[in-house]
Amino acid sequence: MAFPVTRLRRLRMNPTVRDMVRETELSPRRFIYPMFVCPGSGVKKEIGSMPGNYQWSVDGLVEEARSVRALGISGIILFGIPESKDERGSSGYDDQGVVQQAVRALKREVKDLLVITDVCLCEYTSHGHCGLVQGEEVLNDPTVGLLAKMALSHARAGADIVAPSDMMDGRVAAIRSILDGNGFANIPILSYAVKYASGYYGPFREAAESAPAFGDRRSHQMDPANALEALREAEQDLAEGADMLMVKPAGPYQDVIRMLRDRFQVPLAAYQVSGEYSALVAAGRLGWLDLPRVMMESLTGIRRAGADIILTYFAKEAAKALA
Ligand SMILES: [Zn+2]
Repeated sequence: MAFPVTRLRRLRMNPTVRDMVRETELSPRRFIYPMFVCPGSGVKKEIGSMPGNYQWSVDGLVEEARSVRALGISGIILFGIPESKDERGSSGYDDQGVVQQAVRALKREVKDLLVITDVCLCEYTSHGHCGLVQGEEVLNDPTVGLLAKMALSHARAGADIVAPSDMMDGRVAAIRSILDGNGFANIPILSYAVKYASGYYGPFREAAESAPAFGDRRSHQMDPANALEALREAEQDLAEGADMLMVKPAGPYQDVIRMLRDRFQVPLAAYQVSGEYSALVAAGRLGWLDLPRVMMESLTGIRRAGADIILTYFAKEAAKALA
């Protein structure tokens, strides 16, 4: 039936009816809050390009994580700023490393908070690349073994979920195998299966102090123009034992989120990255956008595209807005 019998505005006439027919819901339990941990004590250093986000030493991180959990947010994902860096990223798979210390403290102090660890070498290598390098090339196979060591070290510290973000081929299988071989068969892998070589990561590199000293990440991260290739990445990671998949960034890749949601039966995460966050915060500060409103709209869009879990720097503010 066409207009005038059909009038779509009938179901928009007041807030109660709009509430009743709303298709997409946000909930803090769907959020994961990214956090940055650094050495020392009493450190809370704001990240200039990501206002409201900080590098924390373990003591402050634990207190902050407590308040994150109190807001109903399911978990955090941890990134480390190590004491020292070398060519092999060895502080990343050191059982006394900054992330490992943080994980132990969080699991001891904060009840029911899921602690997810990011597994990649770029925060720990002196050259800032995601793996071992030879000349200008990021080596795949020798890197995979180190990533597996890092994941095992995180699991030993008590991580609930490990999340490889490096985009090396074969790393999910290597991580699954080393975890299973060491009594961690129950630790899930959240794979950054579809991670694009994105300009939106800019502010994160300040946050994690992980900008590459030369070259870029285009030889392992995906070309922003490709979507079919995302299906191959997802299929491969599932075949290797990934329990959950992730698309990163989120907002500019909502078509890819939808493709994966329609195609695969595993929980799907999307990472609303630093640049997506910072762009909205900056426009809000300039008075060009209503930040609280576009924050919720951006998250709703990602959820509507099919993401079950959203990693977002807005997690706390959005959780407060939903309370
Ligand atoms: Zn990396």
